[in-house]
Amino acid sequence: MAEKIALVGIGKIAVDQHIPSIQAGSEWELAATVSRNASVDGVESYTELNALLAARPDIKTISLAIPPQPRFAYAEAALKAGRHVMLEKPPGATLSECHKLEALAKDAGVTLFATWHSRYANAVEATKTWLQDRTITSVEIVWKEDVRRWHPGQEWIWQAGGLGVFDPGINALSVLTEILPQQVHLSSAELEFPENRDTPIAANLVFDYPGGAPVNAVFDWRHEGRQTWDIDVVTNDGKLHLSNGGATLYINDNLVQEGPDREYAALYHRMAQLVANGKSDVDLSPMVHVADAFTLGRRIVVAPFHF
Ligand code: NAP
Repeated sequence: MAEKIALVGIGKIAVDQHIPSIQAGSEWELAATVSRNASVDGVESYTELNALLAARPDIKTISLAIPPQPRFAYAEAALKAGRHVMLEKPPGATLSECHKLEALAKDAGVTLFATWHSRYANAVEATKTWLQDRTITSVEIVWKEDVRRWHPGQEWIWQAGGLGVFDPGINALSVLTEILPQQVHLSSAELEFPENRDTPIAANLVFDYPGGAPVNAVFDWRHEGRQTWDIDVVTNDGKLHLSNGGATLYINDNLVQEGPDREYAALYHRMAQLVANGKSDVDLSPMVHVADAFTLGRRIVVAPFHF
């Protein structure tokens, strides 16, 4: 039987992905929503999370599809009310918030799932398997997109805690931390901040990989040409090109895997498994790299950004 779930934040990603994925599957029933401005046809709606938590003790799972800055307060309230919680990426505005949520979930004996949707892109698992026994000689990440096209009018991404270009960039880092046989750490970074914004519009990251292979990432939100979400890995035994944000895999220029988008269907399936097994899944490694970039990165001020 489907478990009841409530979705908080009926914005872009809720409409594009969460609602269709919940409603298409058999594991979850969208029993209620919380939004200050929106609702879903045929679904009970609340404007405040606390009202929902009080009125619907039968809804045991809360999925948060809101920006990172307000996320902690919502997650804390849900966990303290004994509900399982699913977090959109990034799991919070700070690492310490996320650690606190982990501890709350543990104390309450409920599931906390910090989702990384890009890890469920079609070709990520095959990429990880192929790289497992190979020696990496270089990794190049290029994540270049047009912010006006993908985030029209979204002010929160430009405000402190909104991550700026790391909002998509952290997706690349979630894939990187999933596919590499050994973990990297940041050794230098340059972040470009529009003079009128709190968060960066572009970033160049350099990582250390055990053995010395160069691992670099370029994120740029000013890109109007072909939208690019690519990872190239050269190994001792051929080269790999993971494109379309992890959806398409080429090995030595041959197409090996591509397929339909199944990221959010997979996330909700994973959440159902975690709840059923009484487990949590909170991997903060992509966010550690972002935090490191803000700590270590050289700040460069660039032209103002206006929508
Ligand atoms: P969005 O459309 O700008 O906002 C989502 C919802 O968050 C809105 O419906 C709004 O709810 C609520 N919200 C905004 N500010 C709030 C605040 N201060 N307090 C409480 N609720 C607030 O954002 P989005 O693009 O869906 O992104 C939401 C999250 O999903 C982000 O963490 C983002 O990184 C992640 N994500 C986005 C995409 C994408 O393509 N956009 C893809 C993957 C993941 P109300 O209706 O109550 O105003």
